[in-house]
Amino acid sequence: MCADKRKGFLVCDTCQKEFDRKQYSVGHKFCSIGCQYWGSVDYNKKGCWFWQRRISSVGYPVLRWKGEEFQAAKVGYSIWNNLEDVYNNGRLYNVCGNRNCVRGDHWEPIEK
Ligand SMILES: [Zn+2]
Ligand SMILES: [Zn+2]
Repeated sequence: MCADKRKGFLVCDTCQKEFDRKQYSVGHKFCSIGCQYWGSVDYNKKGCWFWQRRISSVGYPVLRWKGEEFQAAKVGYSIWNNLEDVYNNGRLYNVCGNRNCVRGDHWEPIEK
């Protein structure tokens, strides 16, 4: 058939797959939290990947997904380490010293 966009579906900005618009909040451009992450950083850059969306009042990158707020660095860390869910077992330590960097290998869990 044709490649026309189906009604009620949007095309993800990152992976170009169609997703059901009704599952997401208005104006969403990404099909998953991972795609939102990749669509919010300049990952071709060497070194730190700076967050291009919201920064919290204390200076940390925030990723908003389905009404929930995540620390974007934790999302990055989870993707980098192939975790199934967003890392939420504790705090991460910023290895590179740039608080608005969300590159997965620039954050490490704080050992208890
Ligand atoms: Zn996608
Ligand atoms: Zn960094």
